[in-house]
Amino acid sequence: MNDVMTNKTDYCVENFVAGKWVRGSAGHIDVISPYTGKPCGEVHLSLTQDVASAVEAAKINQKEWEQTPLKARTQVLFNFRDILLRDEQKIAQVVALESGKTLSEAIAGIRKGVEVLEYALSLQNSDLGGKMEVSRGVFCEYRRKPLGVVASITPFNFPAMVPMWTIPIAIVLGNAYIWKPSEKTPITSQFIANAFHEAGLPAGILTVVQGASEAVNALADHTDVKAISFVGSTKVAQIVYKRATEKTKRALCLGGAKNHIILLPDADIEVTGAGISDSFTGCAGQRCMAASVLLAVGDVDKHITKIKERAASQVLGQTMGAIITQEQLDFLHEAIEKALEEGAKIIFDGRKLSAPQENSEGYWFGPVILDNVKPGSTAAKMELFGPILSIIRCQNISEAIEVQNSSEYGNAASVFTSSGPMAEYVASNTKCGMFGVNIGVPVPREPFSFGGVDVSKFGHGDITGVHSLDFWSDVKKITTKWELQSDANWMS
Ligand code: NAD
Repeated sequence: MNDVMTNKTDYCVENFVAGKWVRGSAGHIDVISPYTGKPCGEVHLSLTQDVASAVEAAKINQKEWEQTPLKARTQVLFNFRDILLRDEQKIAQVVALESGKTLSEAIAGIRKGVEVLEYALSLQNSDLGGKMEVSRGVFCEYRRKPLGVVASITPFNFPAMVPMWTIPIAIVLGNAYIWKPSEKTPITSQFIANAFHEAGLPAGILTVVQGASEAVNALADHTDVKAISFVGSTKVAQIVYKRATEKTKRALCLGGAKNHIILLPDADIEVTGAGISDSFTGCAGQRCMAASVLLAVGDVDKHITKIKERAASQVLGQTMGAIITQEQLDFLHEAIEKALEEGAKIIFDGRKLSAPQENSEGYWFGPVILDNVKPGSTAAKMELFGPILSIIRCQNISEAIEVQNSSEYGNAASVFTSSGPMAEYVASNTKCGMFGVNIGVPVPREPFSFGGVDVSKFGHGDITGVHSLDFWSDVKKITTKWELQSDANWMS
């Protein structure tokens, strides 16, 4: 059962600055629940001056936090983990209400966030730096140093998980962290900030600034914000990356995706049906790891029948959630019409699935499978961000790889096959940051890091795991000598 409670509609979300909730100066907008199409609360947005005061407040305790030993900093986050798990159901309700996810998807997102948190907690035992005697009596040593005040801008589609990719790691490393959530899904930030406060995090180490582009620009421009991570569409990722790096700021900006799955005739039929269908329908297709294009190599019609059957079993409002806005819903309908004009044919039309009776005014859109999609067409190239699977028929594996490689995006790709050598060949020749073998959503689990290539990511490193540590910190190199050595060595 997907018992998302849509009856609480009076959330009021503000900025969390210096450990207190304060109102931004840019007025408020409604937060609309995709389940009902109606307001479930309001969010007060910020102007440049609100960001400036938030940065000032974040600076106050940062040095003391930095000087607190790593093991002591980590203890606060252990408390936070307990609170997060205690309140998991409550937070999942809010995530689902404001983002349109099902309750189980919302819980899965929180648990993935907890996994990143656990990685951050493990740093106290694993991030040892290193020290060695490089010359007689001379020692070189690594020490990881935080950057100071850092910021992160997150998208609507994972209101808890995406922020949790960065908050624990940046904070455990000793930074003060400013979070700008999506203005479409800001309510979750209230619960996460309150949980950190209850856990004992000093005031200002986690700040939340609500807002839209003005708040983002102010963070990118502020000289005391030393690094910015961004997750969202490619268009905005590029804007933020350019703006932040022009100010010589460190930036890591993850963008959109158009993920391809290569399906070969020898693939296991059950694994394929579930893996591919769930990949494009999960989170109603609103995830950057969703399958978007199916490259069908040779005769795979029996596999496609399985994918179709599973898609047909989806129940809107129960197993499948809603689309974020009316505008995005209209865009998906238009995208289907455009695909038909460009020669595709519909082989499964979930637009006909009925909306849930209790929430008929929500933004519902069932799974759609398009066949005979042409490689250069809009459905083949553009990120649609909805539960639409575009099938491109390919004569052979080379053709499939050529289509995959021609995408401007490079987030994820997968192959479904029972041949090990073939899987290896496709893994080596596809252009992506994350690859799956018989897995429709190849999200790396911690400690493996998350991130794409090409226009799916601007900047170096990844956003989670071991490859994120150097983004949120500097490594100081210390060379020490206590006595004059008699050896003839330039260092001694
Ligand atoms: P979005 O780009 O519209 O918004 C993301 C953030 O940017 C929000 O906080 C928003 O307030 C801010 N923003 C919007 N316009 C801005 C502007 N002109 N200037 C400065 N800031 C601006 O993305 P979205 O619709 O919230 O999320 C969906 C997108 O995110 C999809 O493209 C999806 O693929 C992508 N995404 C990528 C990943 C990844 O890991 N690569 C993960 C999740 C989502």
